[in-house]
Amino acid sequence: MFLLGAVMGNILVIGGDGFCGWPTALHLSNLGHEVTIVDNLSRRAIADELGAQSLTPIASIEDRIAAWQRVSGHQLGFVNLDVAQDYDGLAAVLNLLKPDTVIHFGEQRAAPYSMKGPRQKRYTVDNNLNGTHNLLVAIAELKLDIHVVHLGTMGVYGYDGDGLEIPEGYLDVKVETPDGRLLPRSILYPTNPGSVYHMTKSLDQLLFQFYAKNDQIRITDLHQGIVWGTQTDETRLDDALINRFDYDGDYGTVLNRFLIEAAIGYPLTVHGTGGQTRAFINIQDTVRCIALAVANPPERGERVRVRNQMTETHRVRDLAALVAKITGARVDRVQNPRLEAAENELFVSNRSFIALGLEPITLSNGLLAETIEISQRFADRVDRSKIPAASLWRQDMPEAASHTI
Ligand code: NAD
Repeated sequence: MFLLGAVMGNILVIGGDGFCGWPTALHLSNLGHEVTIVDNLSRRAIADELGAQSLTPIASIEDRIAAWQRVSGHQLGFVNLDVAQDYDGLAAVLNLLKPDTVIHFGEQRAAPYSMKGPRQKRYTVDNNLNGTHNLLVAIAELKLDIHVVHLGTMGVYGYDGDGLEIPEGYLDVKVETPDGRLLPRSILYPTNPGSVYHMTKSLDQLLFQFYAKNDQIRITDLHQGIVWGTQTDETRLDDALINRFDYDGDYGTVLNRFLIEAAIGYPLTVHGTGGQTRAFINIQDTVRCIALAVANPPERGERVRVRNQMTETHRVRDLAALVAKITGARVDRVQNPRLEAAENELFVSNRSFIALGLEPITLSNGLLAETIEISQRFADRVDRSKIPAASLWRQDMPEAASHTI
């Protein structure tokens, strides 16, 4: 038995101005939920700091909200608040609105940015862990029965590539006692983060485990794959609703980066051999999955419910070859700025969303063409100097990723 939007609720979307949060807020509002966005607009500030704006022109949050009311008739609330710094403000909002669900997107999410230097490493840890912890403390202190839906990442599992199917959060093991008995245990899948950003998501998991046990907070942790695409059914309704599309070396996720490179005649920048296999999901499926997760919360006292939010896996060089075939782009292998396995296999269970009725959008069935079209439409906004990945995983590593190998 599962529900999709059948029970309308009052939902707070932390990070609702971002790439995943904005289309999710619109989708939930369209389904009839009362939605309030909490965001400190730090993503816009980091875009200014990096001098790398979204490919798509993003309206101000006020204009976005006004446009949504115009086209849909639905109101969205907005609170400009830093959930990592302003605990009292966050607690006051929770106490006032008493939401049924809080969806937590409000973290610094770029692995390369988190590795840029000491300031960015410390910011990513302070921001992500304090934000998550403040939310959990406030819910526990206020004794509110709120379902927390958190956006985690597939990256917490690591990419060991030995053929094991990655389960949804937990590993069932048998532990041998000193007298030779085998005891069954279900443990959080051991994390193997590949960046400071991924490390914060690994640490978030422990915070969730503790507060689910200690305070019976109902928590769903969505281990999401790399998101591609930009528009959803709701963001297409008006130009002022258009979603952000990051293409720069820090925030541009791999497939979107290839698509914009193809649109402007820049060679597709494959890191190393391109043998890295990663999990992917289209942004339209992101918003559908979150609606499904909201409608299917765990019970109070249940352990954290982990769902793998991904629909397919691809090797990076195969993605580049696919984009090159469709667009005629050239592929360039560049020095990998990251410390990661050059080649890996990846098998992932996503049974829980499939069981809830998700019908995945895959690369082969459609939306790639739309994303290529968006890339071409806004190609004149691209700053080519921002494309190479310049953040190194260790300062003593060789040349930056602009160097062809
Ligand atoms: P994003 O940077 O576009 O959005 C994050 C939003 O949170 C921004 O609007 C930002 O201003 C806000 N924010 C950050 N810190 C905040 C704070 N302290 N207080 C209030 N607001 C704050 O990122 P995104 O791509 O939309 O990712 C959203 C979530 O999904 C992240 O937690 C990310 O780790 C996760 N995720 C994203 C991807 C992806 O491919 N984009 C993949 C896996 C997981």
